Amino acid sequence: MVSYKELGLVNTKEMFAKAVKGGYAIPAFNFNTMEQMQAIVQAAVETKSPVIMQVSKGARNYANATILRYMAQGAVEYAKELGCANPQIVLHLDHGDSFELCKDCIDMGFSSVMIDGSSLPYEENIALAKKVVDYAHQFDVTVEAELGVLAGVEDEVSSAVSHYTKPEEVVDFATRTGCDSLAISIGTSHGAYKFTPAQCTRDPKTGKLVPPPLAFDVLSEIEKQLPGFPIVLHGSSSVPQDEVDTINKFGGKLPDAVGIPEEQLRKASESAVCKINIDSDSRLAMTAAIRKYLAENPSHFDPRQYLKPARENMKKMYIHKIVNVLGSNDKL
Ligand SMILES: [Zn+2]
Repeated sequence: MVSYKELGLVNTKEMFAKAVKGGYAIPAFNFNTMEQMQAIVQAAVETKSPVIMQVSKGARNYANATILRYMAQGAVEYAKELGCANPQIVLHLDHGDSFELCKDCIDMGFSSVMIDGSSLPYEENIALAKKVVDYAHQFDVTVEAELGVLAGVEDEVSSAVSHYTKPEEVVDFATRTGCDSLAISIGTSHGAYKFTPAQCTRDPKTGKLVPPPLAFDVLSEIEKQLPGFPIVLHGSSSVPQDEVDTINKFGGKLPDAVGIPEEQLRKASESAVCKINIDSDSRLAMTAAIRKYLAENPSHFDPRQYLKPARENMKKMYIHKIVNVLGSNDKL
């Protein structure tokens, strides 16, 4: 058993309380590689932002959970080396699907876990979340649970249709599970293809797809039911058009990729939404930079040559999100 506190990590309790009160949201960036980790830490240190580094099932399959845990420990030391005396870094399990997996992560030093029972019947979702909360709270580890179903595909978490969270269920759910934060469904979606062209309208000037708006009425009803309770949005990449265009220009093929407009995420950040998950935008930033570099430098083959601009492009994207969308800068 390793306590996250020995690794210099923090749980989400204090940072969420401050974010809800302060009208901003904490970025939750997924990471799988060293370059992503470095870019996340550099961005967080330069903007003086707390940050959640999260590990999905796909990340564990790709990089191994133990390696990712040591990378998060390295992230804390790296932040200090970059001049941040008191980094606020959370190591979070994204979409934990069983009690055993959550327990494993808690035992190896994660400071926060998500138990995703959103596909289960209501009572089973509550029972599973409560079991994880009872274990996690013994070690001061915070727990995110989910109510409602998001559409889209993300590292083996997928659903064809979404079901908005029912505001009339949230008090009962939060009270009986004891969870520390609640992921809700108000129209965000996993992946780089969040909406089909049929779900969108087209901007007559640009011809680009305009996605349907988030259900802010559902969000405000949830806030009324659970005043000040930390709310989480999954599937909140914006799928920046310039990155998609770069990918397509240099040999990629991402037709009609579409995300959540940043104005809507900015509006959500000012509410009780205090954690916003961003994964696809980092993938797009990395791929765009690598495609461009390799197309322009066909004789280069040292991975460091193309991973360096990839890392810089991700860092630029992370800083943009922190400063211009979530507002979590200057909070350390
Ligand atoms: Zn998710």
